[in-house]
This record gives sequence, C-alpha cells and structure tokens, in this order.
Amino acid sequence: MKKYLHLFAKVIFLFCNGIIACTSSSQTEIQYSTIMYTPDKHSFAKPEEAVVKHLDLELLVNFEDKTLCGTATWTIENHQSEYIWFDTKDLFIQEVKVDDKIVNFQLHEPLPFLGSALQIPIQPYSKTVQISYCTSPQAEALQWLTPAQTYGKRYPFLFTQSQAILARSWIPCQDSPGIRVTYEAVVRVPCGLLALMSAENPQTVSDDGVYHFRMMQPIPSYLFALAVGNITFKPISSRCGVYAEPEMIEKCFEEFSETEKMIKIAETLYGTYRWGRYDILLMPPSFPFGGMENPRLTFATPTILTGDRSLVALIAHELAHSWSGNLVTNATWNDFWINEGFTVYFEMRIMEKVAGKDYADMLALIGYYTLLQELEELNYNEDTKLKLNLEGRNPDDAVNAIAYDKGYFFLRTIEEAIGREAWDNFMQDYFNHYAFQAVDTETFLSYLEKKIWSRFPEAKKRVQPEKWVYEIGLPENCPKIYSQYYREAEEAARAFAEGEIPIHQLQIGKWYYQQWVHFLNQLPSDISLERFAELDAHFRLSESPNTEILFCWFLKSIQAGYKNVYARLQNFLTTVGRRKFVLPLYAEMLKKKELQNLASEIYHKARPYYHYVTMYSVDKLFEQYHIKVASKY
Ligand SMILES: [Zn+2]
Repeated sequence: MKKYLHLFAKVIFLFCNGIIACTSSSQTEIQYSTIMYTPDKHSFAKPEEAVVKHLDLELLVNFEDKTLCGTATWTIENHQSEYIWFDTKDLFIQEVKVDDKIVNFQLHEPLPFLGSALQIPIQPYSKTVQISYCTSPQAEALQWLTPAQTYGKRYPFLFTQSQAILARSWIPCQDSPGIRVTYEAVVRVPCGLLALMSAENPQTVSDDGVYHFRMMQPIPSYLFALAVGNITFKPISSRCGVYAEPEMIEKCFEEFSETEKMIKIAETLYGTYRWGRYDILLMPPSFPFGGMENPRLTFATPTILTGDRSLVALIAHELAHSWSGNLVTNATWNDFWINEGFTVYFEMRIMEKVAGKDYADMLALIGYYTLLQELEELNYNEDTKLKLNLEGRNPDDAVNAIAYDKGYFFLRTIEEAIGREAWDNFMQDYFNHYAFQAVDTETFLSYLEKKIWSRFPEAKKRVQPEKWVYEIGLPENCPKIYSQYYREAEEAARAFAEGEIPIHQLQIGKWYYQQWVHFLNQLPSDISLERFAELDAHFRLSESPNTEILFCWFLKSIQAGYKNVYARLQNFLTTVGRRKFVLPLYAEMLKKKELQNLASEIYHKARPYYHYVTMYSVDKLFEQYHIKVASKY
C-alpha cells in the first residue's frame, strides 16, 4: 500500500542513467526524506518523485477585486523526477521560476472539484520553485465579507477555509494531508487591518499594513489559514488569548476565559502542547463550521457565544486537534476518522475533567444518537465504514457523523476492553511516535496490533477492530451509555406531552442546553400547535441565545408546521452560515412541498452570504429537489 523511498536505490538509479554528475559534496547535500506517502486520489502531487518542504509566501490582499496576488516560493526535494506537480484551482499563474530561471510550465485542464494540475519541469538538483499568481474572485477557500457582513459594519473581512482540498484555490501547493511543510509569509493588507495566519501571529495592528509570519512546525496544506479584518487581541494567559472584532472582544474573552485550564487538562492527558501559543479567533457569522483547528489559531464560530460558556466543548474539540489531526494527521481523506474520531474521544476526556463524568456521558450519548440517525440516513451504505473510499468524489461529500462518532465509539470500545490506564499510555505513545507525521488507517491498526493486541489478545477478540473499521453500520459491542440528565429530559417530555403537569411546574430551569435539545427531540410528532405556542411563550425558545436550542426548536417547528417561527427562522438563516445548522433546516423545509417556495426565497437572499463550503452543500440539496438556485455570485 505504501511507497517507501529507498535512498540507496535512488542514488544508484541516478548514477546509472547518467542524469547527474554527482560530486562528492553535492551527494552529501542530498538529504532524501524517508517519509512514506499513502497514495492520495485528491491531489495531483507525486511526492515520492518530487515533494515540497518549505513555503515562502508573499501575498497582497486586495479587497476591491477580491484577489490575493503574489508569489509562492517552494523549497523542494527532487528524488528522481523531471517534473514537480502542484494542485491549483482557478488560479491565474503568471510565471514560474525554478532556481530563479523562468521555465515553461503546463497548467492542465481542470477536473471536477480537483482543479488543475500544474506541471513544472525541474532538474535533479533543483532547489526552489517560485510561482507568481493571483487567485480568482471565486476562489473557494476565500470568503470576502463586506463591512455590512461584519459585527462592526465599517471594515471588510477576509478569511480562508482550506480543509479539505481548498488550499489549492489560494496557494498553488501539493494539497494532500500526507505532505507537510514549514512556512513563512509576508502579507500586505490595507492599513488599519490586522492579518493573522496559522503561524506566529502579531497582537497589534502594524503601521504599514505589512505582516510577517512563521510556522516552523511542518503542517499539511489544509491547515494553511489567513484572516484579515478589524481585529483586536486580548490575552487570557501567557500562551493563549482571543482575537475578535472590537465589538465582540469582551464577550469573546468571557466565553473563552477557561481555555488555559483546558490546555493544562489536555496536557495532563496526552502530553505537552507542542505549538507554542493557542489563540482563538472569533469569526464572522458566515463561517461555515463550528471551528477550524488551524494550528496556533483556532477559528471559532460566533454561534458558541451564549454568555454562559455552555458550548465550550467546541473549544475542547478544536484544542484536541492540536494532537489528533494537526500533530498526527490523516494520510488521506479516506482516513478522516483518524483526525475526527480521535479528536472526539480526546474532547470527551477533556470535558470529563472540566465538567464531570455525568456531563461527559451525556455528550457521549448525544454522539450515540447522532450516530444512529446518521446510519439510518445513509441507509447503512459504504460511507458508514470508518475507512472511506472517496475516489471520484469530493471529500466534502462524505463529511458526516461517522468519522466523528463511530470513530469515538471504536476508541472507547478499545479503552473499555483494555482499561483506561493501558489505553492512555498507548495514546500518549501514539501521539509521540507519529508526531508531525501522517497516519493512514492501516498504519494505525498495525501499531495497535504491535502495542496493544499483542498484550491483550482476548480483548482484541472482544473488540473486533477490523469489523469497526472495514464494515458498514455499528458493531454490536458498541458501549451502552446511560445518562441521568437525559433521563430527566425524557421524563419531562413525556409528562408535558401527556399533559400530566402544567407547563410552569416543569422543573427545567437549570438544565444544560443538551437536556433542552433532548427534551424537544423527545416530544411526539403529533403534539398540537397550541402546545408549541405554550412552550414558546413560557420559555421564549424562539429567542434563545443558545444556537443549539434555537436550531432544534426551528427544526421541530418546521416539522410541526408552527408558522410563528418562520420570520425568526429566516433571520437565522440569513445571519448564520454554519453548515451544521443551515443544511438540516433547508432539508426539513424542502421535505414539505408547501415550504419549498419559502426555502427558495430564503436561500436566494442568504446564498451570497454563505461560505462556499455551506453553499456547495445547500446547492446539492436543492438539486435533489430539482429546484434551481441562483447562479454563482
Ligand atoms: Zn474536528
């Protein structure tokens, strides 16, 4: 499966073919890496032949024409090839130089979702490839916000989202998670704005709009990140802080003030935090994800600002990625669970220490229900395996709960089978052993075999790891979770639905938001609209500051035909771009013929505001119903 680079064999090959005339000094200069590259169908790069090692990026950020222009100078390692291959998408390549000499390059015809291969001729001893280019205004990784789309309403905002294969739309790169590079960057932005990257970051605005960045730990391309806007900084501790628009900085600081505590907890679990600083950037509302684990600088959705820190598990998740994902990375998107399953597991362990076992069990149970629902929706198809086969498909098409929650339960099953102490030792060892490397599913399984199953053969029989990884659905040995908090919510939902007690006697004032969500989900589908109105009036659900409650309430309301919420629903969908909320709400509306027009109207207004990642998913949804959506803006 894997391609090994044999230094000795390659040097012999070069001599025998007379391609190079090595001198003894140049021989010693060649330091071929011995990295194993899992073949990646989502990249044109051929790293076993010629691979990038370091990036020097210079970019000018132009808000007027929505472009980034500049040069990407790659330090490369050529093993035996006449060409080096890059991934690009919608880039205007102006010039390519190899070791400062202009060369003829070939930009191949674009392929669906993969973009265009950039083929550059190189010599055996080529050291650098410099690509001068501009991005397209439609670059899929870039979100250009007008001042009106920000909190402050005065300055524009730019942010990137490179995962899964969008980095190529703003940097010509070898866009595969198995290829890691260090980088430095010089970014020029309009004066008065702050630029931030997944790197060592400034904390104040520069006088001339020029910013210098360094990321000296090697990272995969999907973790390249840039944000530019009217952003300010406030420290939480000596190594962590928050960035946000000035209007949001205090709220943000309050919400995330326990981040240092979380980092310490994470370190006691699985070893030193290796990235220096851990900062959080609060994104504008159109950010498509909950968070993005860009190293040193998590991008976080504002939908987690509730005023009561009830959604900080999301920060635990993004922080956990500093180990699982950023440090030990899925080799290809087929191995996505290697990133997300481990991260959910780690997140649960952090939350157990932060809020107690009962709380963590409730989170696990939510994951379990989400998983069951996902399995049903996917009809137990091939995408319900942990190891995916995404060949010929956009990796974004298979983002679902399987990698996250089935991945989590697989790891929890192992933990329960061998005991927490042995498992935690293994996890620490795993993160150390594969630090700054990519791991595919098979590598993980063989490491597990060597370190765990050889010591616990009986446990292996009980866990059946291959079944978890390579078979559809959920194995029967999945741990059963009990949650007292959930039981309370179920009991209250039953009592309310059956009219046993008046609404003001429901003891739900101090509930966790998850209990609220569960309560709402447990209400029977035939509950009357009067009772919906009663709930809304008493608990002001349509005005909840907690987006998780709000989302669930909207979903239930659409299902029940509770029209009173539609105005607020429209407001929500045109001001929040997080795909997790947006997509199911449109899906639920489209299921009802009488709501399809409303869904189209709202989407028409909201679409220019969404990030590509959200827009792509919602477009596909409308296509399923043969409803035409507005042309690309
Ligand atoms: Zn994640």
